[in-house]
Parts: sequence; C-alpha cells; structure tokens
Amino acid sequence: MVRVRFAPSPTGKVHVGSLRTALYNYLYAKQNNGQFVLRLEDTDRTRYEEGSVDSLLHALYQTKIIPDEGLVLEGNEIGQSGEYGPYIQSERLNIYKKYIQKLLDDGKAYYCFCSKERLDDLREKQKQAGETPRYDGHCRNLSPQEVQTKIDNGEPYVIRLKLPENQIISFQDVIRGDIAINTEDLDDQVLIKTDGFPTYHFAVVVDDHLMGITHIIRGEEWLPSTPKHVYLYQCFGWEEPQYVHLPNILNADHKKLSKRQGDVSVEDFLAKGYLPEALINFLALLGWSPEGDQEIFSLDELVDIFEPERINKSGAVFDREKLNWMNGQYIKKLSDDEMVDKMVPFLLKAGEISSEDVLNKKSWLQKVAQILRERIDYFAQAPEELKAILNPDFVMTDTEEAQQIMAADTVPVLYQALTDKIEAADAEQWNAENAQKMIKSIQKEHKAEKIKGKALYMPIRLMLTGEMHGPDLALIMDVLGKDECLKRLRAYQTHHSL
Ligand code: GLU
Repeated sequence: MVRVRFAPSPTGKVHVGSLRTALYNYLYAKQNNGQFVLRLEDTDRTRYEEGSVDSLLHALYQTKIIPDEGLVLEGNEIGQSGEYGPYIQSERLNIYKKYIQKLLDDGKAYYCFCSKERLDDLREKQKQAGETPRYDGHCRNLSPQEVQTKIDNGEPYVIRLKLPENQIISFQDVIRGDIAINTEDLDDQVLIKTDGFPTYHFAVVVDDHLMGITHIIRGEEWLPSTPKHVYLYQCFGWEEPQYVHLPNILNADHKKLSKRQGDVSVEDFLAKGYLPEALINFLALLGWSPEGDQEIFSLDELVDIFEPERINKSGAVFDREKLNWMNGQYIKKLSDDEMVDKMVPFLLKAGEISSEDVLNKKSWLQKVAQILRERIDYFAQAPEELKAILNPDFVMTDTEEAQQIMAADTVPVLYQALTDKIEAADAEQWNAENAQKMIKSIQKEHKAEKIKGKALYMPIRLMLTGEMHGPDLALIMDVLGKDECLKRLRAYQTHHSL
C-alpha cells in the first residue's frame, strides 16, 4: 500500500510551495488508494512559531488537501489519528533515544564534545583554505572510557553519524534518476543535538520507516541530504523508500520564490479572495503538466491524471498573471449567490456596502455580482471595481473616438429621449429588463434619425459611465438606479451645455 507523508515544520505561515508538496503527496496517495499522512517536524525549537500548526491545518482543510492520518482537525480542535502515532516529533523523543542507542552500540554513531568555538574556528580555517567546511572527525575515535568520563563531567555533547570513509552511496530519484555520492563529500551529520532533540535528518528517517512511508515526495532542497538518509536506512537494515524531489518554485527573476516579491503564503492568497480550487489547480501545474492543452482541472481530475514521472527537473516560475487568469476562470463559473457570498465580506470591509445593504439589497447585490464576475480576478479587487462603477465624479474618457461619437447630431436627441424615458419610468419597476426595453423603444421611435447600434449604445454608455466599454449597459443602469442615472445625465448636460 502506498503511504506518503507531508512533514512540515511549524515555522510560520504555509508557503505555497509547501502546499504544492502536500498536494502532490495527496494526489499520489489518492490515485493509488493509499494513505496521506500529516506529520509535524518540530524538533528545531529555535524556529518554532506559535500558531503555525493552526494555520497549517486550516490551509490544508480549506484547500481540501485533507490528511487521512496523523495530525487532523476534529471539529475545530487539532487531534491525531492513526496507528503510527504520535505524529508530532517532539512527542517521539523516547523512540529516537532507542534508535540512536542502537547506532551507538553498532559503532555507526559517536559522541562529539567539540565546542562551538572549536567548530567555528575549524570552519573559518577550512574556508580560508578554500575547502568545503566539514567536521574533521576530531571525536570519531574517542575511547569508551574517554567518552564516559566526559559525560560524567557533564560536558555537553552531540551525537554524530559515523560515515564510512570513501564509500559510494547511491539511490534513485523518480525525477532525477540515479544519484551517487562519495562519503568523502559528506559530513558526519549531527543526529542528536546538545538539547537532546534529534535533528531533522535523524528523526525523518526513523519516522518514515516506522510510519511505513513508501514514497518520499518533497522539495529539491532536501536532495543533498538524501545520501545521509539512505545511509541511515542501510545502517538499520531498513527498506529504502522511493524518492521524488520536486523542483523549486521561482520568482519571475528565477530566484527562489520569496516574500520580497509579493505574497507567498497560502493564507495571504486566500485572504485576498483567491479561490482554494483555483490555487490548487494553479499549484498542480507548477512544475508538472499533463499531456494536452487543458489547464483547468478539479482536484478529482488531478487525482486521475497526475503522473509523478512527468514532473520537471528544472525550477517552475510562479506566474502571478497566470494565477490571476486562472482564478478569473473559476470566478466566472460561480453562481450569483456564490459570487455574493464571496464578495460581500470584501465590500463590507472596504465600506463599499453596509450590513443593512446585505440584508435589504439582495437582488441589487446579485446584479453587482453579475457585473463583477466579468471584471475581477480575485475578490480583493471587488471594492475598487464597485467603487469605480458607483463613482459619480468620473471623468469621461476623451479619446478621439469618444469625442467623435459624442459630437454626432443625434446625441442631443438621444440625450433628451433617454432623460424623458427615465424620468417617466416607475422607480419600483426599475430593472435591467426595463432599462433594455427603454433603450429599444428609443431606437424604434427614432428610426428616422438612425439612432441605433453604436450611435445608440455608445453615447448612453459614455454619458452614464464615462467609458466606451464595460459591463452590460442595462445591468449598469439597473445597479446605478433611476435617480443616479438621471443625475449622471444632468451632469453631462451641464458640462456639455447641450
Ligand atoms: N520538515 C521538513 C520541511 O519542513 C520536511 C522535509 C521532508 O519532507 O523530508 O521541509
């Protein structure tokens, strides 16, 4: 049975790159009827950030990348579920103790008492000599008595992996093929730190084995560490998992995606009103693509078509324009009610509407929704768009084309006809349908003057919105309301002394 895991560290908000890692693990588990495990790697106490676990679980649940096992949400509470727990590394210290003892007993690990000063000094010297800094094996051959005396004296220590000398370690990566490295190019990795906690490298191997993980799908930054992990599997005589190292996600400048160039956390994107489904769809295609041209996929479709073998080796550029486009595609598919639900919090927050409006102007909000659906890429753009539509102080566009349109002899006639119709209209019956009828009847009544097509719609749109293009004219008139339409016509008249 396929068992995969997503194993983040609680170091802050969830990076979109982490969500992609979680997603690929999830897709692979689901398409193989496997288990998707969520494990928390919290052994680096210095990087721990309060609230991380909460935002981690919410990011996963909101985007529907829900773990089958491990850390889960039970209602609103964080719980652990499954037979391989605990799934939080800081709760597994006894387990690591047992396994490090085995390595020590087998002579595969050793105590190291080197002080920070000595190690800093060593690193500095190696750097100056143009060598790659690495531990020099100073404590590799201490006798058991020497070790015991130092421990009894209360000297602080770490426990290091005793790598064999000049040995090739090789493994296979599903994306990158065969990888081989000589132990001469590796360091005697610290496995247990001075504080008694395991390092990531030790805990990850012990846990992946004990939790029955079959495939390790993770970021390529872990590729250089993998030989050390592979060697640990060999020390214990454990079966090695399959490795899949995912390409980095890059900014437009091809550097690693960082906060400096905009949002990078899942929370930030959701807070801006990107839809979880769209974000997932977009992330799925970052570094992987299916055959064919289709780009819009539901999570279920992704489960069907995902092929780890088709993941790219090289970094994937995070194209914000494309994310906007994709999110826009998802927005266009929302129903009016869904649009209203999603846009209202943003409009309320920006003060564009009041809570009374939400209760009393439902159908107006639905019309606003119809307009905004075509005009926004994500919901944080909704207030600005609505503001622009409702802004009574707009300045009419003065392109040559607009000027020509408004200079036509028919414009004063049209202005008068429209004003008369709107004045006569029943405010109770003010809606897009009637607005459309009004425009049509002007066309009929002014057949002789040829007020139709562009000569009909363009001047009305320009007088009412200042723009040549935009949402459906009748819908705009509906949203503006009778009085506002009249006000705008009068303002036009005053400015242009018709
Ligand atoms: N805790 C590691 C991280 O946060 C997990 C790496 C791995 O998946 O092995 O990236």
